Amino acid sequence: MATEAHSWAAPEVRKPLVPWTFQRRAVGPHDVSIKVAYCGVCHSDVHQVRDEWGKGIFPMVPGHEIVGHVTAVGDKVTGFKVGDTAGVGCMVDSCGECIQCKRGVEQYCQKGASFTYNSTEQDKQTPTYGGYSDHVVVTENFVVHVPKNLDLCAAAPLLCAGVTTYSPLRYWGVKKGSRVGVVGLGGLGHMAVKLASAMGAVVTVFTTSESKKAAAKDLGAHHVVISKDPAEMKQAAGTLDVIIDTVGSSHDLQPYLNTLDVDGKLALVGMPETNHPPFDAKRMISMRQCVGGSNIAGMPETQELLNFCGEHNITATVEKINIDQINEAYERMLKSDVKYRFVIDIASLKQ
Ligand code: NAP
Ligand code: ZN
Repeated sequence: MATEAHSWAAPEVRKPLVPWTFQRRAVGPHDVSIKVAYCGVCHSDVHQVRDEWGKGIFPMVPGHEIVGHVTAVGDKVTGFKVGDTAGVGCMVDSCGECIQCKRGVEQYCQKGASFTYNSTEQDKQTPTYGGYSDHVVVTENFVVHVPKNLDLCAAAPLLCAGVTTYSPLRYWGVKKGSRVGVVGLGGLGHMAVKLASAMGAVVTVFTTSESKKAAAKDLGAHHVVISKDPAEMKQAAGTLDVIIDTVGSSHDLQPYLNTLDVDGKLALVGMPETNHPPFDAKRMISMRQCVGGSNIAGMPETQELLNFCGEHNITATVEKINIDQINEAYERMLKSDVKYRFVIDIASLKQ
């Protein structure tokens, strides 16, 4: 039987979020139903509520950093049982048959993955609704186990901010001694710092916020550069192997490319509304450098990241909020005023 879900949703583009009730599907044979405990607030939620990427589906229930407890499982489910601590990230389904799904990178599914909200199920019609809601029903292949030793609230952001930075760090071969730069110390950026330093990298943070300088070192950064200061940027020239750029608006990449050494790679994860300005191709060629992109992580790598965080005792640094603070939280994120991830206590939905 379908169940009533209580949520907060954006009724229309750019409108504040308000309480909204809708129906979740009945738990099918392969489904897991999860009572949501916490849901992280990603800058992607802000982009999509404001429809900056286009084709927004409204009402929109954002939220793709979901953790909670399993309350029901379908009769074909083998990996989860009632009471398990479980997580759901940015995807809830994919075709499962194409070459990308077969190699475990479902986010690049050739037929299009079903994202957790502002997307459709694999029927390409039924809208998906995210984790700012009291429960979710998700096919088991898109549910992960959250290590028991991690604080559940602070673990929620691992489901997007964590995997999105872990994946390019791994893909570009970061290891002990690698020199890693992180641009932007927000939700994604602070996870990149924690993860890269746990991998043994020497980490440099590029921030626009003087106020984050000291805190960046507490998070594990070895060097902090105020990116607005040309003298500090000049000093960092040619010192890095890999940069993870988390800035979510159009910006000049050249000052960051200048900090890469020969064979350096810049991975874009921040997703701007409009493109970045052009950069110096000749310099890139003469130093065999590379600019790439990376989208979240596939399901095997998502579980791998959670296990990595379990082993290294890594969680996000969070500010817990009630659901009725969500619109204010969006405004603060737009001002880079978050240290470093808002997480909604979903119990506050009842109030
Ligand atoms: P966030 O918490 O708001 O952090 C972004 C940080 O970027 C800010 O805190 C700020 O850090 C810095 N920044 C902001 N505007 C800037 C500017 N104009 N120039 C330089 N730095 C600026 O956002 P988030 O949740 O980490 O998300 C970041 C971006 O990644 C968003 O676009 C989001 O949609 C995208 N994203 C992509 C993926 C993916 O799979 N590729 C997944 C999730 C999110 P400082 O104060 O340190 O300067
Ligand atoms: Zn996200």
